Amino acid sequence: MTDLQPWLGAVPDSVVERILSARNVLAVGHENPDADTLGSTLAICRLVERGGGRATAVFADPIPPIYDFVPDVERARTDPDESAGYDLLVVSDCGTLDRIGSVRERHRELFDRLPRVVIDHHASNDPAGPADWIEPASAATCEMTALLAARLGVPLTEGDGALASQLMAGIVMDTATFAHPNATPRTLAVSAALVEAGAPLADISRRLYRSKPDPQLRLFGRVLDRLETDAGGRIIHSSLFDADLAATGAIAAHSEGIIDLLAQAEGADVAIVFKEAGETTRISVRTKPGGVDATVLTGAFGGGGHARAAGATIAAPLEKARPLVLAEARRLVAALEG
Ligand code: 5GP
Ligand code: MN
Repeated sequence: MTDLQPWLGAVPDSVVERILSARNVLAVGHENPDADTLGSTLAICRLVERGGGRATAVFADPIPPIYDFVPDVERARTDPDESAGYDLLVVSDCGTLDRIGSVRERHRELFDRLPRVVIDHHASNDPAGPADWIEPASAATCEMTALLAARLGVPLTEGDGALASQLMAGIVMDTATFAHPNATPRTLAVSAALVEAGAPLADISRRLYRSKPDPQLRLFGRVLDRLETDAGGRIIHSSLFDADLAATGAIAAHSEGIIDLLAQAEGADVAIVFKEAGETTRISVRTKPGGVDATVLTGAFGGGGHARAAGATIAAPLEKARPLVLAEARRLVAALEG
């Protein structure tokens, strides 16, 4: 069996102590949930329950159907129960507390009052609390949560492989199945332990990356067909309009993955997808190693993420937001040569 012991020193005692002493945990992830925030948050619930406590999993937005295979996904709610008597807030995969989204605004007093544990791997995070565990070198929040499970002495086989599948889903999601440079020897050791515990790695990878409903493929086709280049080809970008969803029968969550295709452009240093979201615009950014820092580009618009993959929501319609973002991207690309 893969021994995770050498890695367990990374788990802060303050995190372990707060989780062990909590009796009723509010576990939250980020808005527009993905497999990493989902897997980690649901796993936290299992860890707390295994220790005899209670837990509620909350995300500001409904879970997209692509994640239906993740064990316990039916537990996800969009609001906490104000009368539940929570004694700990556990925040997973949020680069800032704002990433929790609208549910935090709806229950501001509760979120501000609860003692907190933060488990996160975003470079743009700013550790401020006594039990904020931030590791930008970790490939996924689920990688950290797997170490937390081991540190708590919870077997990764918990729930007949359910815990292992939850955690594997987040690692596969954030590494694109070990293809991104964020996958380290520790990521692989944790993943080996998860596969040994019953996580169906190949099946999870297929579901997250190589299986799409027809409307999603048609949506990809429209957006790829519309791609444009800028800065002599060093910037590649495209736009997705609400009308594309209507025309293809796709849902907003189906836009996930288009950016990773654009980022395959051989000559481009920066890939950007602009997504119309009513009067606001979402941007997804990917950049090449050694090139523009994606958190710098998105940071100029109030977003963040990782050096190679980041995003932002801009309070302007797409046609207004696009020239602003492209101007900033051109400036950053030009500065690389500087
Ligand atoms: P994606 O482009 O796949 O939506 O996001 C890429 C990365 O950037 C993810 O790690 C995600 O957590 C982060 N990210 C996306 N949107 C935002 C945002 O609006 N604010 C911050 N801080 N991070 C974001
Ligand atoms: Mn993540």
